[in-house]
Amino acid sequence: MPKGTCFTFFGGVNEIGGNKILLDDKGTRVLLDFGKSFKVRSKYYDWNENLRAANGVGDFIAMGLLPDLKGIYREDLLALAGRPKKEDRLVDAVFLSHAHSDHADYISFLRDDIDIYMGETTKRIVESIEDERGRSSLEFEITGFKQRPIERGSERVRRKITTFTTESALRNRIQVDSIEVEPIHVDHSIPGCYGFVIRTSSNTIVYSGDLRMHGNNPSLTRDFIQRAFAANPDVMICEGTRIDETNMTREKDVYDTCRYFVERARNHLVYADYSYKDVDRFATFYNIAKSTERKLVVHNRVARYVQALSGQGNPLKLPPLEDESLAIYKPREKSGTYADEDYSPEDRELFGSSSQNTLTALDIKNDPSKYIVALGSYKIDELVDIAPKEGLYVHSASEPFNEEGSISEEKMNNWLNQFGLEKIHVHCSGHASGRDLNDIIEAINPKVLIPVHTENPGLFRLFQGSKVIVPEVAKEIEF
Ligand SMILES: [Zn+2]
Ligand SMILES: [Zn+2]
Repeated sequence: MPKGTCFTFFGGVNEIGGNKILLDDKGTRVLLDFGKSFKVRSKYYDWNENLRAANGVGDFIAMGLLPDLKGIYREDLLALAGRPKKEDRLVDAVFLSHAHSDHADYISFLRDDIDIYMGETTKRIVESIEDERGRSSLEFEITGFKQRPIERGSERVRRKITTFTTESALRNRIQVDSIEVEPIHVDHSIPGCYGFVIRTSSNTIVYSGDLRMHGNNPSLTRDFIQRAFAANPDVMICEGTRIDETNMTREKDVYDTCRYFVERARNHLVYADYSYKDVDRFATFYNIAKSTERKLVVHNRVARYVQALSGQGNPLKLPPLEDESLAIYKPREKSGTYADEDYSPEDRELFGSSSQNTLTALDIKNDPSKYIVALGSYKIDELVDIAPKEGLYVHSASEPFNEEGSISEEKMNNWLNQFGLEKIHVHCSGHASGRDLNDIIEAINPKVLIPVHTENPGLFRLFQGSKVIVPEVAKEIEF
């Protein structure tokens, strides 16, 4: 008997993130996200520990980080794992909801003849991160890769990426054989996020991606709810990160609270730690710096990220790097003397073109009360050069660990003690609260609800009743 639409969840089940959802419509197959599972990875590896590249996909499959599927992985990575290289292609396309690692990163392992669809802004973010990482991490080869083992001078293989915007999707929905996809923007803690309305030959499916109602742009999520409801969906796959929470700190609360404390720390250094990909949070700290007559000091990676997102009409309204309330931090490298040859050509250009806005540790040390230093945990060792005696540390991320190269909370506290920094924590989550999630689901009104990206699927069952199907890893759900 021919099947209708089948779903298989290879990640995002009883975990926050790691979404890898296979949708099969009578042989047309697409993946919704193909992300990294921090939960599984952190069971066996430290955040900064690389898995062996010499075994290709082998270690990743053995440790449960990648599903053991035929016909989706790169030939070079199969060969390294001692697996047969020639396999029929299993999936036609991947639809990426946004640029967070837990949705995007493991596209790195997929074969290059699979079409990848992502938002225009997501592509810019991914490219900017790839440039920073020097394109050498096996777990971050999303737009392209060099065949492994990497030989000198080898060409980079570029993936087939098609970008979309909400407007382009409204004019022209994306068709992959029998599956039609309409991306619609949502608000979340990184720019360029989408949910999808998907029509197969027999069903209409809505996928939320990651979303929230309490951020700076709730109208984006409202647009998604409206389109999703109008599609009269059979199935909704909904994220549930915060289904168990009611706390509703808004971005404006982050601004108000932080500003209050920064004002009171008036003679001292303020050190900020937030996810640099979160442009709303960047804007919050920038505005606090501006209104308290400080400069927000960012490192070169953040400066380039802001630059990359400022192009094409600057839709996110980011300030230019020459702005008087912004500064770029120039760290000591190689010789330790700030010599030109210590820096990459890109850094030299960045420091040169914004020279009036480039600062060293000594500038900050001489006048710490003029700055909010946003070097995060990633560059915490710069405190040795900045040498504050006391000051305020603002922790403004969701977890003690984050993917920008974090250290443990315990070690972070030791750093703060060493340099006399007092800590406060204030954060606005990228994810809708339990109450908002229930309101969103009821407004969209799907016949069946599949919770994903949550450790509490049982709460969905409690709140939404018999329409809820809780997925199991690698087990087909058929409609
Ligand atoms: Zn996520
Ligand atoms: Zn996310």
